[in-house]
Amino acid sequence: MAGGSGVRRSISILGSTGSIGVNTLDVIAQLGGTDAFDLVALTGNSNVELLARQAREFGARIAVTADEENYTALKEALAGTGIEAAAGRQALVEAASADAGWVMAAIVGTAGLAPTLAAAARGADIALANKECLVSAGDLFVHAVKEGGGRLIPVDSEHSAIFQSLEDDQHHAVERIVLTASGGPFRTWSREQMADVTVEIAKAHPNWSMGLKISIGSASMFNKALEMIEAKHLFDLNPEQIEVIVHPQSIIHSMVGYTDGSVLAQLGAPDMRTAIGYALTYPDRPKLNVERLDFVKLARLDFEAPDEVRFPALRLARTALARGGVQGAVMNAAEEVAFDAFCAGRIGFLAMADIAEEVMEAMAPHPAATIIEDVFEADAEARRRAAEIIARKEMAA
Ligand code: NAD
Ligand code: MG
Repeated sequence: MAGGSGVRRSISILGSTGSIGVNTLDVIAQLGGTDAFDLVALTGNSNVELLARQAREFGARIAVTADEENYTALKEALAGTGIEAAAGRQALVEAASADAGWVMAAIVGTAGLAPTLAAAARGADIALANKECLVSAGDLFVHAVKEGGGRLIPVDSEHSAIFQSLEDDQHHAVERIVLTASGGPFRTWSREQMADVTVEIAKAHPNWSMGLKISIGSASMFNKALEMIEAKHLFDLNPEQIEVIVHPQSIIHSMVGYTDGSVLAQLGAPDMRTAIGYALTYPDRPKLNVERLDFVKLARLDFEAPDEVRFPALRLARTALARGGVQGAVMNAAEEVAFDAFCAGRIGFLAMADIAEEVMEAMAPHPAATIIEDVFEADAEARRRAAEIIARKEMAA
């Protein structure tokens, strides 16, 4: 574990300026900061000022912005510190390749795939928040981790809960996993009500404070769709073993059901630092300053069946799981493009799932990806098709 032994653990954070990245640095500060950890690389995108501040505070060796246009600003912000500044997609991969033993993968979207793969391939332990790696390139990504020899530790709260509830050597006795979903801000809304919502309304999550993409994904339940595919690859499950249940309080983070009828769960306050801390010190548990559950105050936990008619993303995930191959990459890429269009006010909230479905249908069936370029190709084609559909919708409007 960090601290105590006198050996500082080397770590990197891909996406340090985001919601998960900031929480990761908070956990690191709680567990001894620079006394316990040797920060190798931090990466961000547009928020150069925050990236530079983090790099200075935690004494990082390298700071990388994904956007080449921000290079000069980053370099200036780091002048005189001795911290190396770099920019661009290749620089991200190089930062991930630098020799940190533990890497937090917290870039949002498929932009995180190439750097995270690079870290996995060289055998780093991967703390995975960037679920899109598994959605887009599941088998190849898992294979890269195995070949590299590092560990893959989930950070997504549901998957961390499952990871914590899985008993050693009992994989054969796992009957099902139950992913909990808060249901998001539109849990009780009709499709008619959802049709006209703005980004401002959709991003207001009832329980969790998160990045924009995942907040909107919680409102559409597209995030849960990604998590179903993520679970399949992380835990080597059949699609029928993956259940989703709506649990509005977000206290039970997910569960594992066994052949003897037992169900093991992990509970906690909705605070990502618990899952991040677990991934950082696994198999030890760190001492964290996070809220403790007060069961009397909670009083009750509720459960509802998910509604695949109001939230079609769940149905799309089932389709992608059944079809396999690069359907996950296709679904995710199409939705990333549709998400950008929704945020830009070009399409309505419900159109996001429609577009993902139309692209999935147009590109089905799909062969398995044998090399990573197959994934990138499917991703690019799905983006192209989604953009066409959006342009067509705009023309018609
Ligand atoms: P965020 O938007 O807050 O942060 C994203 C990070 O990625 C930032 O550091 C940003 O600079 C960087 N980034 C954005 N675009 C980039 C690009 N094109 N190239 C390189 N870097 C880029 O997102 P977040 O909420 O922290 O989520 C990060 C990942 O973790 C996502 O995959 C999300 O699904 C997953 N996740 C987040 C939470 C949460 O509570 N926020 C929970 C579970 C899983
Ligand atoms: Mg989650």
